[in-house]
Amino acid sequence: MRIGFIGLGNMGRPMAANLLKAGHRVVGYDLTPAALDGFAEQGGARAAAVADAVAGAELVLTMLPAGAAVRAVYEGEGGVLAAAPASALLVDSSTVDVATARSVAAAAARRGFDMLDAPVSGGVAGAAAASLTFMIGGSDAGFTRARPVLEAMGRTIVHAGPAGSGQAAKICNNMILGVSMIAVAEAFALADRLGLDRRKLFDISSKSSGQCWSMTSYCPVPGLVPAAPSNRNYDAGFTAAMMLKDLKLAQEAAQAANAATPLGAGAAALYQMLANAGLGAKDFSVIFPFLAGALQGSALSGP
Ligand code: NAD
Repeated sequence: MRIGFIGLGNMGRPMAANLLKAGHRVVGYDLTPAALDGFAEQGGARAAAVADAVAGAELVLTMLPAGAAVRAVYEGEGGVLAAAPASALLVDSSTVDVATARSVAAAAARRGFDMLDAPVSGGVAGAAAASLTFMIGGSDAGFTRARPVLEAMGRTIVHAGPAGSGQAAKICNNMILGVSMIAVAEAFALADRLGLDRRKLFDISSKSSGQCWSMTSYCPVPGLVPAAPSNRNYDAGFTAAMMLKDLKLAQEAAQAANAATPLGAGAAALYQMLANAGLGAKDFSVIFPFLAGALQGSALSGP
């Protein structure tokens, strides 16, 4: 298939590499020349502008930082809606606010396009291993068309509902993740103060009602789950800045929908404090030493 791919950053580049591996012809564009160079080294065809990347495309995939970039790339002058053939299926895998996802999909529909929001979880490692989870909002027909292409990049592909539902699923899931990570960090910080051995708490809670992914797969306390970033100086992983972005999106959506999400609001405030303390580039599990007051004089430094 001829695929136009816009946004070849940390996630986009390995995703595009997997599309090339699957035999697709991928024409890529990114604002940053270094990102385009890396993509060309993988065997991709470089475009000089969005319009060049999407001309003649059967499918357009975008992996951009935030809603403003998505609006610009789709609705701007020489953007996807102006330059792609209306027969092309449009798939935005960026994490953006639900309102932007819905309004860009509506603008696309007015021009005769079928568009899906298709945010992912699984991070850079999942993108490289083609094991991402895709959460899809949009039509049944679009989902059916996109699925075989997305299977080259992901393992779990779920149709969540109409336009915006993929983004809704993503921010709800990540709000659970942010809140549960803080809960686990607080519990271990309390255990330390009470003189309770960390491993004992882990052995008990990981097999009882406190069990959750943040504890058993990604424990923020070093020495308990070998693969967790806590064992590697909290190098990301999934950065605290990314978690903050998703928690803010969840708060925006909650306000617009009059949903009460007090713990989500608290989680956003805590991750804002963490970012303001210069820890945004660290893995989001760095919330444990931050809350435990263990950062003073620590070896934690750099990104
Ligand atoms: P990134 O910043 O590494 O990549 C984004 C790329 O988009 C950059 O190369 C940038 O130059 C390019 N870009 C920005 N505006 C552009 C424009 N107008 N035209 C063309 N290119 C443009 O970000 P990333 O880590 O790859 O994340 C991409 C998206 O995936 C984000 O929405 C993020 O929230 C989401 N996401 C990231 C992760 C992760 O672990 N990194 C996990 C899940 C979801």
